[in-house]
This record gives sequence, C-alpha cells and structure tokens, in this order.
Amino acid sequence: MKTENFPNKIQPYLLPKIGGEMVYRGIKCNEEFDIDQLLYTCPKCGSVLLLEDKLFEQLRIIPGDIWRKVFDYRRMLNVPALKGIYLYHEFIGPTLPLDSIVYLGEGNTPIVEANAPLQKEVGRKFYFKNDGQNPSASFKDRGMASALSYINHLLRTGAVSEILAVCASTGDTSASAALYASYLQPRIKSAVLLPHKKVTPQQLAQPLGSGAVVLEIPGVFDDCMKVVEALSDDYNVALLNSKNAWRILGQESYSYEIAQQFDYNLDKKTVVVPIGNAGNITAIISGFLKFFETGIIDTLPKIIGVQSAHADPVYRYYLEPDSKKRVFKPVTVRPSVAQAAMIGNPVSMPRVINLVEKYNEKGKGQKVFFVEVTEQAIMDWQLTANRNGHIVCTQGGETLAGLIEAINSGVVERNEEVILDSTAHSLKFSGFQEMYFEDSFPEAFEIVPKREFQNSPRLVCPSGLKEAPEPGKQLAPERFEEFVRLTTEEIASILNLKKKKKA
Ligand SMILES: *Cc1c(COP(=O)(O)O)cnc(C)c1O
Ligand SMILES: [Zn+2]
Repeated sequence: MKTENFPNKIQPYLLPKIGGEMVYRGIKCNEEFDIDQLLYTCPKCGSVLLLEDKLFEQLRIIPGDIWRKVFDYRRMLNVPALKGIYLYHEFIGPTLPLDSIVYLGEGNTPIVEANAPLQKEVGRKFYFKNDGQNPSASFKDRGMASALSYINHLLRTGAVSEILAVCASTGDTSASAALYASYLQPRIKSAVLLPHKKVTPQQLAQPLGSGAVVLEIPGVFDDCMKVVEALSDDYNVALLNSKNAWRILGQESYSYEIAQQFDYNLDKKTVVVPIGNAGNITAIISGFLKFFETGIIDTLPKIIGVQSAHADPVYRYYLEPDSKKRVFKPVTVRPSVAQAAMIGNPVSMPRVINLVEKYNEKGKGQKVFFVEVTEQAIMDWQLTANRNGHIVCTQGGETLAGLIEAINSGVVERNEEVILDSTAHSLKFSGFQEMYFEDSFPEAFEIVPKREFQNSPRLVCPSGLKEAPEPGKQLAPERFEEFVRLTTEEIASILNLKKKKKA
C-alpha cells in the first residue's frame, strides 16, 4: 500500500524518523560508551554490555494506541527495510538509516496453534512460534540482521573499511553469521569457530555453503567461546556472538511480534523459551519490558526459561529462592539433544540476573520462572509435536517438555495460553530423530526410545519380481507392467487395502 492511502493520523509515523541516541551501557558499573566503536565488554570493568537509547523516554510521548496502529499499518507497506525486525525500528535501531538495513527475510514468523488432540494431551491452549522459518532456519537471524545492519552502517559511513566477522557457535549462530556476512561480501568476510563434532551435519553445511572460513576446535562450545573471546580481545575482528549487544537488540523483535500477533493483549499469556548462552531469554525479557514501558502492552506475560538436566546452570542458580544467597556456578555439560543450548557458562548470565529482577519488579510479583527437563522428555515431546503437524527442533521439544513440567509444578494455570519458542527448524536436528528411530543413542544421552514414536522406511520388493527399473535403463513393456502390478499388490498388502468394486 502507498503512503498516501494510510489514515492521516498514522502518516506522520508510518516511516520511522532517524533519531534516538544509542549508547553501550556497562551492566555492572552503569558507565556508558559511544557506539561508533565495536565494543563487547565494558572497557572499565569488563562486564557485558547492553545497548540503550538515551532518548527512549521520548517514545512515550506517542500514545500506546498510536504505536499499535503504526506497527499494524506498517505491515502493509512495501518497504523491504521495514519488512523484518525493523518494523519496530524505533525500538531496535533508531539511529540506523533505512538504507543501511540488511533484510534477508527474517522475522514475522508464524504462530501456529496446536491441534485439538495435542492441546488435550498437554492440557493447555498453546502455540508454537516457528522461528525455524527464518532464512537460516533459526531465531539467530533476528540478532544477526541487527548486528550486520549496524556493521553495514559503519562501513557505509566510512567508520571502518573492512570487517572480519567471527563467532563461536553451537551451530546456528555460525550458519546465520556466515549467511548475513556473505550478503555483504567482499567488505565483510566471516570465520566461524565450531566445537568439533558438536554441531549437526546440516548446521556445518550452512557456513560452508555461504563461503565462510570454518574452523573446528576440540572441546565443547564453552571452550570455543573462550578462544573467540581471546581473539576479539587481541585482534581486530567483529564478534558476532550474543555477547555483542546488537544481537540482543534484534532478538527483542520476537517479543514485539508476539505482542502484535495477539493484538497487544498479553493478559494470561505465557512465553516458554529454551536457554543456552541466555541471549534469547535476555532479549525476550528486554523486549516485553520496552513495550510495557511505552504503554504498547499493559500486561507483562509470564516467561518460563527451560534447561536440560545436562546443561542447567541457569536453572540451578534460581533454585535458591533468596536472591541475596544466589551464587552463579558454571556447570560441565553432558551430551544433549538440545545441542544448540548445550552451554555450561552462559555469557549473558549477568544480563539475565539484572533483567529478571526488573521484570518481576515491574510485573509486581514473580513473572519469570525456570524449569528443568530430562533428555528423554525433550525427545519424546519433540516427536509428539511433530506427529501433530509441527516442525519443531529439539530445543522446541524442550520448550514443550518445559511446559509440561511447569504445569505439573503449578506455574501455568488452566486459563493461561502459552507460546512456545521453536527456535530452529526440525531438519537441522534430524540426526537426533534418526538416533531415536534407530535406537543408536550413546549411553550418555540417557534416552530410551519408545516403540510408538519410532519410524523407518521399508523397501518394497515383491518376492516374484524378476527385474526392477534403474536410472538410465528402460524395462521391456511387459516387464514394466509386471513391476507396477507386483509392487502395487505388495503395497496394498502392507497397507491392508481392500480392492475397489468395479462396475
Ligand atoms: C542458540 C540457540 C538456542 C539457545 O539460545 P541462547 O540465546 O544461546 O540462550 C536455542 N535453540 C536454538 C535452535 C539455538 O540455535
Ligand atoms: Zn563497566
């Protein structure tokens, strides 16, 4: 739709005005730093940073109902820069001009309601928000669009001349980083560090296909992360992990979309999210807070963070009810099917601690909860979801298992509606499904496949068949007829089909 066709009241706000005053803010010391540099940790105290718009208060001048309409009408605009996460430009990157924005089709992912049998089994009305339907098939694209748009802006304004982007990854960060970097080549090149044999073949194929330099490092993700941190401390590289605060900013769009997709009414709503490096839950909390503070939503939804018992440092931290007595201890991870979240020392933990406290305060009571699930439950619920029309990854299965856990412990009441974050596409993690179906899980996973969920292909090979077709070789007509007839009969017998009565 063209600008002149929108209501007069909306027109002045339809295209975002470039404004705001963004700074990095140290999470411990509260010091601020200029955004004309790439910064990952506080130069004063070494803690992680968050980005802040010092003019955020000005967003409150526009009433909530106008903002709601602006976002709804913006969806009808055909401006590529505003099609993805920058639909919420004023909240995500107010200082970025539209022509610096990189849009590869990320964001605006569907919310799919579970069918009646699955809702009955679970006992709640719930939905998956399918972030696997992003361009690199995980939610990481939200943050990468933000980080790379910012870097693109630095390049365009001449603040930097060329960039080597690096990241450590459990698979999806590198897939996303390599994709966005390749769009901006040759001025941006990327190198990704992966824990050797700890990412799936599909995830490995992605940065290779995008032309990134792929470096495999012995150990698990936490070891990789230490190497990439040392690299970004000592060398001139752009770090694309969620330690980079621009990533967090872009991922806040997930919350804005949920608000919009429920017509900004989040009363009795609960959002469930898996936790790995804790960047995603940081962004989700922060996003809802910003919409709440500007009157765009008037209720903060409940948030439930889920961890596997094989990688559960955040869950353990919050086991202690007295906030003054809580001490964070990293854990040594064990093999997990929620491999993208298999992290023992989450980089965003200080951000989580800050934001959870603020969220509970603003929500006037406990609004953020943490649950733990078994590897078995993750697999069983992933397979159950996908046998009911979903495309959730193992981490998506983890959120459904987490919902069950939360229901059992009384955290989610009967009249609440739940949005589960399916963080990636099921196909990225099909190897775990294969191990389940073939009963080939190494013992350390502690998973015993259930017969009713297993599935495998059957080769149809009728006993009387003399010759079968092969590529490049044609069967004689009567042989081919025989092949079709025998194969059809065999299939009918397998499927127990009754022959149609012919008139
Ligand atoms: C990265 C990732 C996670 C974990 O998110 P964090 O921000 O690291 O907590 C979960 N699921 C998938 C599919 C991921 O790629
Ligand atoms: Zn500091």
